[in-house]
Amino acid sequence: MPTVMSHAIAALALGPAFRRAGWPARVWWAAAICAAVPDADVLGVFAGVPLGSLLGHRGLTHSLAFAAALAAIVTPLLVAPGTRRRLWAYLFVATASHGILDGMTDGGIGVAYFAPFDAARYYLPWRPIAVSPLGIRRFLGPRGIAVLANEALWLWLPCAVFATAAWLATRRPRSANEADARRR
Ligand SMILES: [Zn+2]
Repeated sequence: MPTVMSHAIAALALGPAFRRAGWPARVWWAAAICAAVPDADVLGVFAGVPLGSLLGHRGLTHSLAFAAALAAIVTPLLVAPGTRRRLWAYLFVATASHGILDGMTDGGIGVAYFAPFDAARYYLPWRPIAVSPLGIRRFLGPRGIAVLANEALWLWLPCAVFATAAWLATRRPRSANEADARRR
């Protein structure tokens, strides 16, 4: 997996492409948390759940179906009906981005994108992201620094570019009144 922080960064970077005026700040917190939730399955790994099983690491919680269900549960808690469909789409993509990024890592087990309908594990054809070590102690060594440097290049940088482009593309044009006021 990329680090939890990078999953949250990816979710927030997707935000400008979906945002709507009036969404409360908790929407962004929710998106960051949704993107991290799939790795709750490591609790099962520590509890002895077999790695390749449906509930094993990168199993059901990393599937598109899980992302759709989680988004459907969280959305009504955050906004009024008017923009719920759009927020659902955002939270779905934010949660699904976790599995997509895991499928781009250079190690670990494949991702069960189509669980519970198909138990097969998949990788994406392009896997430039270094897999992050599980456990804080191993992460604090040189390997941890190498992982963060790799994520800065393959994740944070593209995220920053995407977020900026999406923000510029969706920025609301200045109102005619404002333009008039400046001309006077
Ligand atoms: Zn994961």
